[in-house]
Formats: sequence, structure tokens, C-alpha cells
Amino acid sequence: MHGLLESRDYAELHSILNYLGIAAFVIDVEGDDVYRLAAINERHEQLTGMRHADCAGRRIDEILSLEVAEQVKINYRRCVHQRAPIDYDESLELPNGTSYWRTNLVPYIDASGRVFRLLGTSFEISRTVHLEQKARYQSSLLDAYLEESPDGILVVDADNHIKNWNRRFLEIWNIPADVMDARDGARALEIVRAQLRDPDEFVDRIRELYQRLDQEEKEHRIRMRDGRILERYSRGLRDREGTWWGRIWFYRDITEQERITEKLVQLSRTDMLTDIANRRAFMDTLAEEYQRARRYGHPFTVLMIDLDHFKAVNDRYGHEGGDAALKAFSQTIKPMLRHTDQFARMGGEEFALLLPESGLDEAMQLAERIGQAVAAIEVNCRRGSFGITASIGVSALQPQDADPEEPLGRADRALYTAKEAGRNRVACN
Ligand code: GH3
Ligand code: MG
Ligand code: MG
Repeated sequence: MHGLLESRDYAELHSILNYLGIAAFVIDVEGDDVYRLAAINERHEQLTGMRHADCAGRRIDEILSLEVAEQVKINYRRCVHQRAPIDYDESLELPNGTSYWRTNLVPYIDASGRVFRLLGTSFEISRTVHLEQKARYQSSLLDAYLEESPDGILVVDADNHIKNWNRRFLEIWNIPADVMDARDGARALEIVRAQLRDPDEFVDRIRELYQRLDQEEKEHRIRMRDGRILERYSRGLRDREGTWWGRIWFYRDITEQERITEKLVQLSRTDMLTDIANRRAFMDTLAEEYQRARRYGHPFTVLMIDLDHFKAVNDRYGHEGGDAALKAFSQTIKPMLRHTDQFARMGGEEFALLLPESGLDEAMQLAERIGQAVAAIEVNCRRGSFGITASIGVSALQPQDADPEEPLGRADRALYTAKEAGRNRVACN
């Protein structure tokens, strides 16, 4: 690079620089803070979009925007001042866009000790800078997600070592922060196990998943000794190149959600006035019982119960009196049943009763006892006290029945027969 020192011919300088495999430029340092671009090489032209022919011999301030010129001159001055090579990173807005550079400046010093020329070599680091920026963005995203997530999150590497976790994870599992800070996986697992209804199942399952990073898990339920229910989601961490990095576990406390869902299901299947099952619940149970009875050849019977002259009750004692009668009726029947029997208000003053494992005789006896119990009820309301009676139709499942509606229809027709025969009685079909 001997020619670099003395050459005053910009074209010659350009060809000398072309021997360098990286972007290079030469700056002539003139008195009074004047920097003149003497040459740039081809590599520099390719990377920056500048052209040697257009810039050679011109002052930096003429080639670059005021702002960029000021920025590069800071480093030129520093090099001149230090009289020694310097390295720096810079971002430059060049003709072909913003790019990032790592530059080395070497000062050339004449016999009088003055820096008269600078040789700059640069390589582009835009890709590295962009990767760094992306990594910073992604880690801030991950931090925010970990902190704000309602799920407890744990990340382990491919060797099963604890990598990341969030505050919620510690809360859900009651794990002291120092156990995690010490990355004490064995102790953490011990704490977790002690809270589980079925610790062996839990451990077997996570072992399996640790061995098979390609396996995903969704909505896996975990029951805790204190009654809480967790839902777990888990999957292996794999990058785009196909390398497995470990596994991420999400633990979601669904106790409250589960309680509300159960409550809603229960409400949708309960009659509000009498607090017994409603028609929907009855029909579901009947369908299930029908399937079961068919599969195992078991019997069942159904009773349809309708209160007598209920319109008259309402007329005389008002709606409130009618409601009190419906409640008194339900309260009287309930204790007479087995817990497997399904007792439901089908609508108005009509009730149904399903007796699994019962034949017609047994059902008829119960129906008679129900009739007697109803007749013994005394309903008290604001407008006075009164008695009620009920008519009951009974039917048993028959071998030729094709669906659960058939025995129900027969019980309904038997009920009609009981009404026709004068009410307050039982009939079967
Ligand atoms: P029957 O002996 O033939 O069954 O005569 P009934 O008067 O009981 O029969 P009907 O079906 O004609 O009348 C049923 C009455 O039940 C009509 C309605 O006023 C009353 N009813 C239905 N649902 C309710 C309710 O939720 N509360 C009250 N208080 N009354 C109801
Ligand atoms: Mg009636
Ligand atoms: Mg009726």
C-alpha cells in the first residue's frame, strides 16, 4: 500500500484500493477541518451506491448531507487528534438506504507530524445489527408476555434444566422464588408433587413429554389436593432450522371457570321454582337410562304426575298459592325417592319420575304412596290453607319399545285415563 501515502491521482488511488477485499476510502485532511474524499474502491461503490467518479476530490460536506457529514467528521477529527488508528460503528443514510458499518481509520502522518490522509476500511454489519435489534425486541416481547400472562409458564431446555418462568408459575404452584433462582428442578418437582391428587400420574406424564419433545399437550387436567383444577398446555420449542431447544409448559387455573360452568349447567337443568330437575334434564336422563336398560336388559318405569284441578287452585288462592302448592308437592315427593330416581317438573303442574331398575309392580306401589302423600299435604298461603291431589300414569319399558319416548307416551296416556276415571288416582299402561 505504498502508493497510498504519496499518490495525488484519484484514479490511481481508486485502483490501489480495489486490491482490498472490503470497502475502503481515502480522505485527504486539509487544514481547518476540511476533509476531502480522495477515493473509494469498487467494493465501497457496490455497498453504498456512491460512485468514485462522482465523489473523488470533493469535500465531504459536498457529497453527504449536512447531518451525515457532521457525523462522519466527528470520527475523522478524533483520528486526526489521536494520531492513531481508531475503530467505530456507525449507521449511515446512504443513497441505497440506512446501513450499519464497522469502520477502521488509519492516520497517515507526514515528516512534520501532521495527519494528512486517512485510510478507512469498513465492513457492513447491518445484518448483525438487525439481528441484535430483533433479539432485543423479541426478548422484550417475551418479558412482557411472561409478566402479564395469566398462565403460569415454565420453560426448560432440552436437558430438562429450568430456563425461564414467570411470577404466576410460582403463585400457582406455591414455589418459593429462591428454589427457582437456584434452578433446583428436583426441589420444585417435590413441592409440586406434594400438592397433587395423583402425583404419580403427573410425574409419568411429564417424563413422557420430556422424552418426546415433538409431542404436544392441550387442556390436560390436573387436580390439586386443595380442590383447585389446573389445565396444562405444553409443546416442544423448535426453531425454523428444526433444532429442539426444550419445552414450554403453561399452567392455567380453571377452578373458578369450572365452578361457573358447573353452576350454569346445573341452572340450565334445574327448575327455578321447585329446585328439582327440569324437562331438559329429565329427557337427557331418560335417553341415557334407555340406552343403559337396552344394553344390560334392565327394566325401568316412568310416572307422569299431574296435579288435579290446578286451575281452580290458582283461581281461588292466586298464583302465589299455586306456586306454594307446587313447592310443597316437590318437597313432599323428594324424600320418598332413591338418589338414582330422576324427578322433574316437566312444565306447569306436570311432573315426571323415572325409576331405574324398577318393574311395574314396584312403580305402582310407589305411585300409590305418592298419591296418598300428596293428598295429605296442607298448603299454606296468604289467602288460606288448602289440600291438593294428583293423578298419576305409570308405564314400564317394553321389549318392543323403539325409543325412550314410547314408555313416556304410554305413561301420559295412563295419566289421561286416571284423570278420566275421576282424578286422585293411579293408572298404568
Ligand atoms: P286437571 O285436573 O285436568 O289437570 O285440571 P287443571 O286445572 O290442573 O289443568 P289445566 O292444564 O287446565 O290447568 C293447569 C293450570 O296450572 C293452568 C295454570 O294456571 C296453572 N299453572 C301452570 N304453571 C303454573 C305455575 O308455574 N304456577 C302457578 N301458580 N300455576 C301454574
Ligand atoms: Mg292439572
Ligand atoms: Mg296439566
